[in-house]
Amino acid sequence: MIDLHNHSYYSDGVLSPSGVVQLAKNSGCATFALTDHDTTAGLDEAQCEANKLQIKLIHGVEISALWSNMTIHIVGLNIDKDNKILQAGLLEHQDFRKIRAEKMARGLGGAGISAALEKTKMLVKGKMITRTHFAQMLIAEGICKDMKTVFKRFLSGKKPGSVAGKWAEFDQVINWIHKAGGVAVLAHPLRYRMTNTKIIKMLSNLSTAGLDGVEVVTAHSTDEEIVRMGKWADELNLLHSCGSDYHGWGNQKVQIGRLKTLPNAEKAIWNAW
Ligand SMILES: [Zn+2]
Ligand SMILES: [Zn+2]
Repeated sequence: MIDLHNHSYYSDGVLSPSGVVQLAKNSGCATFALTDHDTTAGLDEAQCEANKLQIKLIHGVEISALWSNMTIHIVGLNIDKDNKILQAGLLEHQDFRKIRAEKMARGLGGAGISAALEKTKMLVKGKMITRTHFAQMLIAEGICKDMKTVFKRFLSGKKPGSVAGKWAEFDQVINWIHKAGGVAVLAHPLRYRMTNTKIIKMLSNLSTAGLDGVEVVTAHSTDEEIVRMGKWADELNLLHSCGSDYHGWGNQKVQIGRLKTLPNAEKAIWNAW
């Protein structure tokens, strides 16, 4: 089993990088990638554990990017994490995340939620404060019952805790990944609340900018979606990837390495590795 999309607490996952590696091993993964949001800080620890457990770790990162003013996620796989161009780009995103957290807290304060940043920081184990952490705080405080409600009431659109993403453009992000020797893969293509026409346009623009692959199989993919994504990928000559986007949240059913099989093995992105 191969799973090329997983998070640790260096971004918004629950487990340490070692914990994620142990779970991947116990789930029967032969190869897996750690792909934290806009940081590679968990990879050293993950590599240490992977060496001990003899499991193949692919160095990865999931980078936020703008396409047509919308936030999308591009996963970089098999990257050289020490590449200076990549790290300079990630640093810009990490800085924006700090500013965003402060702005979100101010917005939530205006909506009557006091000390939002302080309360959220208590849930953060790594250095990065994400929107998921704010959401978990609002659930823990009993203000919302689940993630979906949090985003609807507080964190999306024109809601008080919503802050527009100031990420790098998609072509720049693809370039960072390529400069670091990696392949660029569009994450969870069906999760952006776009029409099919728009998804195809996005894939086509990204492909022109050098995108290498797309996640054809995700944790929630139906058989029909896998066939559809595979077809769109083939039309644009994109390779096929698969990943669970495991975070380990208590309310998330997603598990590492529990994915449907990629139907077309010849197109798998890992064939070149
Ligand atoms: Zn994502
Ligand atoms: Zn992810």
